[in-house]
Amino acid sequence: MKRQRLDIAIVGAGMVGLAQATLLAVRHPQLQIAVLEASTDVPQVSATEYDPRVVALTQSSRALLEEVGAWETFGAERACPYTEMRVWDAEGTGSVCFNSRDVQMPNLGHIVENNVVVAALRERLAALPNVEIVAGFRLESWWRDCGLWHLQPRSDRNVVEGLEEHPEVLRTRLLVGADGARSKVRDLLRIRCHDTDYHQTALVCVAKCEKSHQHTAWQRFLKTGPLAFLPLEGLGDDNHCAVVWSADEPLARELVMLDDAAFALNLEKAFESRLGSIASVSERFSFPLRARHAESYYGPGAVLIGDAAHSIHPLAGQGANLGLQDVLVLSEEIARALKRGLEPSDPSVMARYQRRRRGDNVATLKAMSTFKSLFGAGNLHWRWLRNTGLSMVDASPLLKKRIILRAMAV
Ligand SMILES: Cc1cc2nc3c(=O)[nH]c(=O)nc-3n(C[C@H](O)[C@H](O)[C@H](O)COP(=O)(O)OP(=O)(O)OC[C@H]3O[C@@H](n4cnc5c(N)ncnc54)[C@H](O)[C@@H]3O)c2cc1C
Repeated sequence: MKRQRLDIAIVGAGMVGLAQATLLAVRHPQLQIAVLEASTDVPQVSATEYDPRVVALTQSSRALLEEVGAWETFGAERACPYTEMRVWDAEGTGSVCFNSRDVQMPNLGHIVENNVVVAALRERLAALPNVEIVAGFRLESWWRDCGLWHLQPRSDRNVVEGLEEHPEVLRTRLLVGADGARSKVRDLLRIRCHDTDYHQTALVCVAKCEKSHQHTAWQRFLKTGPLAFLPLEGLGDDNHCAVVWSADEPLARELVMLDDAAFALNLEKAFESRLGSIASVSERFSFPLRARHAESYYGPGAVLIGDAAHSIHPLAGQGANLGLQDVLVLSEEIARALKRGLEPSDPSVMARYQRRRRGDNVATLKAMSTFKSLFGAGNLHWRWLRNTGLSMVDASPLLKKRIILRAMAV
């Protein structure tokens, strides 16, 4: 591959950046593409333990992973289909159960470990001749002339693996920022970002439960934040769940300090022992929760996708799915431009991409903030409202169907 003058450079080898690179490389073999990644770590998939960070992938995200050939490397073994989603309020009797039968589908989606998806995308990418990952390239600065971006990594030579092979500066016609919620590309483009602190931290771990997870995604809304148990599959049993416990900061601080046995007891109590006792918990990881939304998704010759453009509360498990929708739409717009003899970095590509994606992302961000406020409210009026709302949805097959189809469309 000729790295000196790229057609497209994608900053960030997370799930979204890798999916973008692979999809473009598969659809346009004539394009020279590189993924610039700050880290030199290569995600490893353990054959004995689950990764605590998971995503609930929709049918649409699955279709994208199938198209690039990544799904087949893990789909049968490590993607856990869930056929039901049970949601209930800790402060009342309201509950709702969504079933894939409500929409005549085999399942509502799949829970997959993050590192399984990332490893599969990397494997697929490695087999394509027109795309590569430049590991240890932490984008730090740039300049633009004659329609080309000149990208420079941080000048700490130690972090760049095999630096001799790397040119100091990479040149590209189009730059795609897929570098996550604290995007450097966004900063360098001087794009303002709306930032809301939820004052919550998500604790994630894997819990081994006494009972089967029943291929169900469970979510209990506590006054201090939602607690989700998501089913896992692939290591020979059906009683491991990925736990995502979003808790107000004071509670999260207390939970982080507990030893495993005390944490497991608290977890079981908070989950009302729905899956029996909790036999063990894995190492815990915590993520401070903020909503971020870039004011614009593009600048001259550069575009933002995934968490670099928008990041949301994990309570509905939609962050990665929204990012993968960005990937699909940007790919369509680039294909459209190439067909019409335009540059992939043509301003019309960016403008159309933003127009098609912004509404969906705004709607999801608003919905997550409303859910978070509604379920965090302790007064009687709000409690009545949300419990009645949940029961009403549960009693209405039509409403349920519409909610499921809307969630699956992302
Ligand atoms: C607790 C939790 C649970 C979640 N559950 C779900 C779920 O069920 N379903 C769902 O759809 N989403 C979920 N999400 C959201 C989802 O994980 C994210 O939306 C998704 O991982 C974002 O992917 P990304 O590729 O955009 O960014 P990232 O995964 O953050 O990747 C960014 C990459 O860019 C690299 N990078 C950063 N800066 C630079 C630089 N200057 N130069 C070079 N490289 C750089 C980083 O090293 C990283 O590899 C959850 C999130 C959390 C916190």
